Amino acid sequence: MMARIYQPTTTTIRRLATVLKRGGLVAVPSETVYGLAAHALDAAACQKIFEVKGRPPTDPLIVHVHSLAAAAVVAELTPAARALGRAFWPGPLTLVLKKKPVVPEVVTSGLDSVAVRIPQHRVFRDLLRTSGLPLAAPSANPFGYVSPTTAGHVQDSLGERIEHILDGGACAVGVESTIVDLRNPAKPTVLRPGKITAEEIAAVLGVPVTVRRARAHPGKVGAKKGRTAAQRAPGMMERHYSPNTRLRWVKSIAGDEVLSSGRRVAFLFLARPADPRLAALGGRVQWLSAAGDPEEAARSLFSRLRALDQGGYREIRVQRLPDDPAFAVVADRLNRAAARGR
Ligand code: AMP
Ligand code: MG
Repeated sequence: MMARIYQPTTTTIRRLATVLKRGGLVAVPSETVYGLAAHALDAAACQKIFEVKGRPPTDPLIVHVHSLAAAAVVAELTPAARALGRAFWPGPLTLVLKKKPVVPEVVTSGLDSVAVRIPQHRVFRDLLRTSGLPLAAPSANPFGYVSPTTAGHVQDSLGERIEHILDGGACAVGVESTIVDLRNPAKPTVLRPGKITAEEIAAVLGVPVTVRRARAHPGKVGAKKGRTAAQRAPGMMERHYSPNTRLRWVKSIAGDEVLSSGRRVAFLFLARPADPRLAALGGRVQWLSAAGDPEEAARSLFSRLRALDQGGYREIRVQRLPDDPAFAVVADRLNRAAARGR
């Protein structure tokens, strides 16, 4: 049975809130990417998320809440957390804080910290308010694959494994939230780059913010003894957001290179290529934003990767992005998508 896609109405939101209260899973829209949500205080419900996604238990889940008061139920809100919350919530920012005992271990991979976010998407907020629940939700895709930014994407990759998908349109931001670790008050650290930058966070906190680079490889993480993978580098596997087709960065893409390449090679440009002969090649030449705008590039990135991945190509050549901080998030996701080995 394929999942049902629900348009957001008062009735469907009430019905899906009931599904969540009873321990079921619902795929939900957010401004970042679509999430696969469960009642965050129901360990058995959250366990199902890991099963459906094939997500390793060492990769903790973000807990989404409706308000600061609801955040305080699951996490210790420090002054820094309140300041960032005031500045950026509701929005695409996740804070890692000391957890409250009510949060089950499965959600935090046994850590004494919890990741919390107040999302902005109206439909997600309606569901949070109507259910009155904190909702644990990672991206609604098989672990490691390209994140979903439409209800159709969720249907394509998880439709046979879940029952309910709430449609909130295409995601406005299109890449996952910025994650800031506030466990050490003296050293706020960005664990995952997103729309909200380290500079914006530093400006609110009034202290420098460290940015951690992805390093761990999923194959190695699980094998290590002692400290768990979650304790060292939760979710920071180098390979992530990956299409099945091989991605390769290339410095620049000349029109002649495209025209002389075989039919099984696809090209992903930042902007619409000036050479009119390329547009005539159809699906095998794509771009992230006609005018090369960084926000539009982020919004369309995962859709373009999915479309190219379905084209049956041997390889996708990706044009190197400008060395400009405005492209840091898109570059981060493409770097991880291009990392070898899974
Ligand atoms: P996602 O895979 O998009 O759900 O992002 C969740 C990510 O948030 C994880 O992979 C971690 O990087 C981070 N995270 C979640 N919970 C915690 C936690 N308790 N402590 C540290 N990082 C966390
Ligand atoms: Mg994910």
